[in-house]
Amino acid sequence: MSAKRQVADFEPVDQSDYLEFVALGGGNEVGRSCHIINYRGKTIMLDAGVHPALNGLSALPFYDDYDLSTVDVLLISHFHLDHAASLPYVMTHTDFKGRVFMTHPTKAIYRWLLSDYVRVSAISSNDASTLYTDADLNASFERIEAIDYHSTTEVEGIKFTAYHAGHVLGAAMYFIEIGGIKILFTGDYSREEDRHLNVAEVPTERPDIIITESTYGTSTHQPRSEKETRLLNLITKTILNGGRCLLPVFSLGNAQELLLILDEYWQNHPELDGIPVFYASSLARKCLAVYQTFINMMNDSIRKKFRDDNSNPFQFKHIRSLKNLERFDDLGPCVMVASPGMLQNGVSRELLERWAPEAKNALILTGYSVDGTLAKQILNEPSEFASVAGGGIKVPRRLYVEEISFAAHVDYKQNTEFIDLVNAPNIV
Ligand SMILES: [Zn+2]
Repeated sequence: MSAKRQVADFEPVDQSDYLEFVALGGGNEVGRSCHIINYRGKTIMLDAGVHPALNGLSALPFYDDYDLSTVDVLLISHFHLDHAASLPYVMTHTDFKGRVFMTHPTKAIYRWLLSDYVRVSAISSNDASTLYTDADLNASFERIEAIDYHSTTEVEGIKFTAYHAGHVLGAAMYFIEIGGIKILFTGDYSREEDRHLNVAEVPTERPDIIITESTYGTSTHQPRSEKETRLLNLITKTILNGGRCLLPVFSLGNAQELLLILDEYWQNHPELDGIPVFYASSLARKCLAVYQTFINMMNDSIRKKFRDDNSNPFQFKHIRSLKNLERFDDLGPCVMVASPGMLQNGVSRELLERWAPEAKNALILTGYSVDGTLAKQILNEPSEFASVAGGGIKVPRRLYVEEISFAAHVDYKQNTEFIDLVNAPNIV
């Protein structure tokens, strides 16, 4: 596969009026997002992700296909690894010399997530080809500039403003102006009200071009209330049957949303009191502090809770945080929210391999599953799958598998409506 080149549909007066859009990653695939916009000698790079189903250098966007030394500005839309995890590589291992921007919450969370990413890839990679070290991460981190929502920054004639994108804490859409052309880049975004985030905003100005995500393509989401009922019914049925429920999650983002749902449900159902709910993430404690710090950037409902109860809504009453599995007594029915979300390795994978042989257990996939990951394969309910231990070891699968998506992305209808509201004449 090579980088996809698309030129926006203008009628240029001369060659210098061409706007070039290049997808170095995330063009015809989900993962390793990285796009380039070039117009009148100014170059902007949007996101610098890795592909979740690939390892080492092959997980990178096609950086060799573009002269990165020409990039003036790099804007990161949000902290997810498929949008941000190759940034230290770009900043320390390529000719890139530009300035890098992201919102304050993104920068705060990015640091914890990426040091965890460095640690996990060092453990799980068979060769020594990790993309960068902790030292690279620290050196590049100092050079990242943090910005506020709704304030405009100007760098060498390029102007940009961050808007709320929903999706995860800190996620931004960028409204960009270069040489009289206005562009809206959505990044990942959502328009559905949830328990803690603001929905994506429609900018006040009309752009000439919108560059939008389309992770869910033409599919339609089930309404929120129906999804929650389905999730909670399945969990209740499983634990009353003596089973264990595994919910693999990306450690930040929809994990917090699911924990808010579970905590509220346990609060309203005292009969479930004896059934433990765990959140297994080494990042949990650090994240709690970040989520507390940025509560002012979340929606009204969560800010009201924070004000009225004078407590942090992310300080859960019914959820126990587990630093690692050594502290976990696996004695009976429970609900386990564990990362990573696509079962590549780590805690969620270890528990899946332990619980998969028993039919009374359930695996509930709540995020988007990228092609090539076990999370995607297991949706086809294979009778066995390869153990992460390698050596041809197979794990029998009898546990129940269901997908109930809480991924905070627009579906086809929401995306179309948003595109209509923004009303840009050109769509990428
Ligand atoms: Zn995302």
